[in-house]
Amino acid sequence: MNEPALILDQVTKGYNHGKPGEVQVLRGADLRVEAGEVVALVAPSGAGKSTLLHIAGLLDTPDSGRVSLGGQGMAGLNDAALTQVRRARVGFIYQFHHLLPEFNALENIMIPQLANGVSASLAKARALDLLERVGVQHRADHRPAALSGGEQQRVAFCRALANAPRLLLADEPTGNLDPATSDQVFGALMGLVRETGLSALIATHNLELAARMDRVVRLDQGRIAAP
Ligand code: ADP
Repeated sequence: MNEPALILDQVTKGYNHGKPGEVQVLRGADLRVEAGEVVALVAPSGAGKSTLLHIAGLLDTPDSGRVSLGGQGMAGLNDAALTQVRRARVGFIYQFHHLLPEFNALENIMIPQLANGVSASLAKARALDLLERVGVQHRADHRPAALSGGEQQRVAFCRALANAPRLLLADEPTGNLDPATSDQVFGALMGLVRETGLSALIATHNLELAARMDRVVRLDQGRIAAP
């Protein structure tokens, strides 16, 4: 499928309309992420990166403008349909791992697959395969609290990819790690993304990491701009 993984067309979003503290975050953002392309989204804190990622991942709706995933427009889909599209096609990674503390690494990667109707044996095989690809298979039966920060984030990457999404959205995925660990963990993430041919939009403050992606865009005054 060579349709663009993501198209944002003239997307606007504000908060507290007509009230004190009104803020217009996105002011006509246009962005296209091609199939298999990895795009860095760079902007200072508060510029609207999370807002844009949430809209791209169907967790929030724009005030105006259009969102398309895999060539399909999302306008007119109800909440249930949007949830279904999100579960099937989008993987999220955040700055903090958000793994379930009472389950081990393997189970954390199996759970989204089981929720999607995959059998336990297939879910386990896929979870182990993903853990191996990011080099933490030896930690499969450890709970998150027993893992290092870098290991926790690698497991979170596996979980995001558990249901084989077409688009990965990441919000400062290594922002909580020291520079050396961040570098290695980002390498593991890029390895996974390239092996699976995934498209990705990755928000980062780190210009060195941004330079390792296919293309860098900035969010400036609520619009997407070239670097
Ligand atoms: P970034 O991810 O680049 O740090 P955000 O998208 O989190 O930026 O936030 C952009 C702006 O929108 C900030 O000024 C923030 O305070 C504001 N904002 C974000 N979410 C809300 C909300 N739910 N209600 C009110 N303001 C919000």
